[in-house]
Amino acid sequence: MSTPALSELLEPEHRVADSAGSWVWFLTSDELAATRARIAKVNARAERKGLTGRVDVAAVPATRSYAPAPGAPQVTVHGFDVTLTGEPPSYAGWRFVAAVDRLPGEAAPPVLRYPPGSDETVDNASVQPGQCDHCHTVRPRLTTYLVRHEDTGELKQIGRSCLPDFLGITVRPVILSADDLAAEIERSRGGGPTLWDIDSVLTYAYAVTAVYGWTPASNPNGLTPTRELVALAMGGSRQGREVLSEITDQLADATQKAPQIRTDLLASLTGASGYEANLAAVLAAGIVGRKQLGLAVSAIRAWQRLTQRQADAELRDQQRPTITHVGTIGDKITLTGTVTLAMAVAGYHYRSPDQMLLVIDCGSAVVKTTTSARWAYDVERGDHITITGTVKKHDDYRGIPQTVLSRPQRITISTLPTLADVPAQSAPGEGSWEVVNANEAGPRPFPGPSNALAQAPQTPNPAV
Ligand SMILES: [Zn+2]
Repeated sequence: MSTPALSELLEPEHRVADSAGSWVWFLTSDELAATRARIAKVNARAERKGLTGRVDVAAVPATRSYAPAPGAPQVTVHGFDVTLTGEPPSYAGWRFVAAVDRLPGEAAPPVLRYPPGSDETVDNASVQPGQCDHCHTVRPRLTTYLVRHEDTGELKQIGRSCLPDFLGITVRPVILSADDLAAEIERSRGGGPTLWDIDSVLTYAYAVTAVYGWTPASNPNGLTPTRELVALAMGGSRQGREVLSEITDQLADATQKAPQIRTDLLASLTGASGYEANLAAVLAAGIVGRKQLGLAVSAIRAWQRLTQRQADAELRDQQRPTITHVGTIGDKITLTGTVTLAMAVAGYHYRSPDQMLLVIDCGSAVVKTTTSARWAYDVERGDHITITGTVKKHDDYRGIPQTVLSRPQRITISTLPTLADVPAQSAPGEGSWEVVNANEAGPRPFPGPSNALAQAPQTPNPAV
C-alpha cells in the first residue's frame, strides 16, 4: 500500500514565505525534532570555527488541511509552523548582512544569501560581485560579504580573504546562511507519523463504517481493517481514491455527524481505565497518531451502541405505564405491587412505638403507608404484597405521584411475584390497583385459586 507523503499532499504550501520574507515549513513533530538536532549540529560546528551569531529553530503548533480528492471533505493534520530565526554574526561593530555569490557570466547580478534573523535586504542589482572595499579591487571572487556598521550604518562589501584583516581578527569568520540551513530542514523531512485531526478521522471513519461495516485490526477473514480503509481514504493515494469513490455518498452525512459523535461520546464515556478512558483521551486531545487510529475509528461503533442504548431506553420509557394518583380521599382501596422501601421510622412521640414505612410500586401507582401493625415488620424490599387501606392523601415524591394510605391491612404477601402479578401481563392502561366500594364487606381474595402457578398466599393477618 503506497500512500503519498504528507508533504506531497501539502505542496506547495508546506514551505511558504511569511510576511517578513522568511520561509515557513510545516513539519510533523518527528521532523521538527530531527530538524532541531541537525541545526544544533551545524551550529556547534560553526561555533567551533568562529561563528558569533546565533541560529534558532522557532516552532508553533499549526494545522494544514487538504482534500484527498476533488470535492472530498478536508482532512486536517496537526504539526508545526517552523521558521529559522537568530542573530546575524557581528565582529568589531560590523554586522553581517549577506553573502554575495557570483554567478557564471559577465554581468549577471549576484545571489545574496542572508543569515537567519537578518532583518535587512539589499537590492541584488546594486551589488557588484567580486568587489572588495578593503583592498579596493574587483576580482573574480566567488564569494564576498556585505557588512553594515552598527553605529554609523555604513555598508561595505569585503572579499573573503580580506575579512580577518578588515575585522582585526585572526580567524576567518563563519557565516551560516538561511538557505544553507533550509537544506538541513529539507533533509529532515519525510519522517514521522501523520497526526490527523479527530474530526477528520471521525468523518472518514463514519463513511467507511457505513459502507464496509466494521472490521477490527485482528480480523481473521483477511478483510482490510476499518482503520486501514480510513487511512487510505484520507491519504489520497490511488487505492485511497477507490475507497473514496465507494464512500462518496456518505461523506456529506459523515461531515455533519462527526462533531456530534465526539460530543456525545465525551459526555457518556465515564470509565476511569481501559477502553473507555483511552477513547475519551483521544477524543479530548483532538489529535490522532497512527498508533491511535484504530482506537479513534472504533468511536463510530461505540457511538452506534450508545445511540442504540438511548433509543432502547426511550422506548422503555414510552412503554412504562404512566403513574397516577389512585382512588379518592376517603376511599378504601386494594392494591398489589412490589415493595421498594421497607424502613423502620421513629414514632411521633417518645412513648409511641416505631412504625414501618412502606413504599409499594403497583405499576401505574405508587403507594406509601406507615403502620405499627406487627405484619409490617416482616415485610422486606422486593416482597410482592397486596394491601388494602384508606386513601389519606395524594402526595408527590420527586415528581412522581404517590398515594398515601392509612390503616393498611395486608391481604397477601410472597417473596416471589405470582404469574398473575407480572406487570407485563396486565393489559395496557389497566393498573393493578382497583377501587373497592367502601360499602363492600372486606377485601377480595387474591390471587384466585384457579392459578396453579400461584404460590399459596400466607394467611391474611388483619391485625391493625
Ligand atoms: Zn580585499
